[in-house]
Amino acid sequence: MARPAARRNRRLVIATASAVALCATISGCVAMATEGSGVSAGPRNSAGPGNGGDPSNGAGGSGSSAGGDKGRSPGAASSPSAKPPARVSAEITHESEDPGKTVNLTIDDGPEPGWTVKVLALLEKYDAKATFCIIGSRAQEYPDLVKKVTAAGHRLCDHSVDHNTAMDKRAESYQEAQVLDAQKMIEKAAGEGARVSYYRAPGGAFTPYSREVAASHGMRPLGWNVDTHDWQNPGVDRIVETVKKGMKEGPTVLFHDGGGNRGQTVAALERLLPWFKEQGYTFSYPKI
Ligand SMILES: [Zn+2]
Repeated sequence: MARPAARRNRRLVIATASAVALCATISGCVAMATEGSGVSAGPRNSAGPGNGGDPSNGAGGSGSSAGGDKGRSPGAASSPSAKPPARVSAEITHESEDPGKTVNLTIDDGPEPGWTVKVLALLEKYDAKATFCIIGSRAQEYPDLVKKVTAAGHRLCDHSVDHNTAMDKRAESYQEAQVLDAQKMIEKAAGEGARVSYYRAPGGAFTPYSREVAASHGMRPLGWNVDTHDWQNPGVDRIVETVKKGMKEGPTVLFHDGGGNRGQTVAALERLLPWFKEQGYTFSYPKI
């Protein structure tokens, strides 16, 4: 299911050459990537808790260019937790599962006391749904916040145990543990019946192997189309404009509720959520 080597390598070269890695605080380190369109094309946020970032490899790409959608397992979306979820495609997804004019809000690096609750309150206020890419160690630390996420009907995404953005350079056994241990941590925190639907590598540090590990455990690798760079605190206006201009690239938008002061993210969402509704967008989820 791996992308053809030549294509993948080309993408890696493009992404690596144009990436700048910066790091904030715990898990708030994110790598900027511009790829062709000027809109971040793949998962590139990064940082292990307390560690520096790593530009690592890019992943994904806007639209469906990062790979097809072959190999999707029907029925995966409703697997109960009692049995292993069905295998899903190992290709990185960006598109929405709903047709039409959609937006997939994805919110990374939490849960974090204070910010996660604020984001949840806004999503409820505007009847919006989102996918939370959760760091396993943080799920262990703040299980009640994970439960709040699922209780509100949002989806869960595995964002690795430690947010090590260089995990793609590590042994396969390490990668497997980062992916699967985090899945268990998030499921345990979320409680019975919870399902982790996606896997997003920290810093875009996907490998074909880690994507296969995730996919074989029911988690679809998840990219993005629009990177708000909110973790850099570029200003609320800037975040809002980045999203408004970037939506033409695709429906999946990257925000953060962890990794530092996310006041700008919250303020930007307060403006963007009603804007999406006014513009006729439907809040959706990435296609599994
Ligand atoms: Zn992250």
